[in-house]
Amino acid sequence: MIKANYPVNKLKEIQTPFYYYDLDVLRSTLQEINEQTANLNFQVHYAMKANVNPSVLKTIMEAGLGADCVSGGEVQAAIDAGIPASKVVFAGVGKADWEINLGLDNDIFCFNVESIPELEVINELAGAKNKKASVALRINPNVSAHTHHYITTGLNENKFGINMSELDKVTDLIKTLPNIHLVGIHFHIGSQITDMSSFQALCVRINELQEYFENRGIKLKHINVGGGLGINYEHPNHFPIPDFESYFKVFSHHLSLHDDQTLHFELGRSVVAQCGSLISKVLYVKEGTSKKFAILDAGFTELIRPALYQAYHRIENLSSDLPEEKYDVVGPICESSDTFAKDYSMNGTKRGDIIALRSAGAYGEIMASQYNLRKLPKAYTSDELK
Ligand SMILES: *Cc1c(COP(=O)(O)O)cnc(C)c1O
Repeated sequence: MIKANYPVNKLKEIQTPFYYYDLDVLRSTLQEINEQTANLNFQVHYAMKANVNPSVLKTIMEAGLGADCVSGGEVQAAIDAGIPASKVVFAGVGKADWEINLGLDNDIFCFNVESIPELEVINELAGAKNKKASVALRINPNVSAHTHHYITTGLNENKFGINMSELDKVTDLIKTLPNIHLVGIHFHIGSQITDMSSFQALCVRINELQEYFENRGIKLKHINVGGGLGINYEHPNHFPIPDFESYFKVFSHHLSLHDDQTLHFELGRSVVAQCGSLISKVLYVKEGTSKKFAILDAGFTELIRPALYQAYHRIENLSSDLPEEKYDVVGPICESSDTFAKDYSMNGTKRGDIIALRSAGAYGEIMASQYNLRKLPKAYTSDELK
């Protein structure tokens, strides 16, 4: 079994469980994004909800990415991290008044608006401040992302965005709202998308919509295609960096962008997933009647994706070279869903072994909870442990 090249002796000394971020992997990922988008009218915003660890965020800010936020807390965190407000976009179906006001006070780049009532509230709140709010309409393109149903967002049955059948009504309304400035359109069809044809279908839909807006005499300066690029959870050692080249090429080949338009992206998982691992120790190896359980000191409180979406994370025993055996790898939480993997082959395992749950940089630490009154774990970076 090929394993991550981690400083195991240092990791062994730290109280588990904790998150470990390999900042060199993150920097290479960011460099690849910047190389693939250089000399194009492309702007990448990091989807903050994937991970807001301060060291991770600082590294992303230094690479020049903007921020995609889905709450007031994230807008504040982006600005506190030094990301310029002119690169901050703010989406979400349920923006509270204080969150809208925070965006207005900071003059963020734009609100991605998801409904007619939200448009009216932003107009009113902007009016009270004598401001004009820049907005992009989040349109539900009714394009399938071919991914887990919990993380598909671009179908008519999903709660997100404005349906295409409502566009006449919305564009008529905008003409009557003095404190709204329509700057573009926005989409986000789902997450962990590995089939590029989903993005291609999105491009085709956007081209149709561009024509629709042009026919109505509306000029759009910005097209935002959201995020969703998937990563390779099976082979993080072979594919530490997602295929950004193919991803960005889909858009340069299939989306008809005008010269004066900027294309925006909101990438979360693909930026940070592979740089992070959840590091845990084996508490007990328990012999069941027909199987062995490796009971870890980490559970779904530290990494909820397997319990929530039946997600696969690669598991490596960093301290064993023994022949592989099969284990059900489970956590200590009092719920049967607290299982990371069943019948999973890893090197022969004993109490005290150090285990890496890979590809945990996205939707790991940020979704941690204190259920069972557990402590929120700490995080360490490769820079600190060098
Ligand atoms: C979650 C989210 C993203 C990022 O999705 P990833 O799959 O992590 O790239 C981008 N835009 C919006 C609006 C989101 O809600």
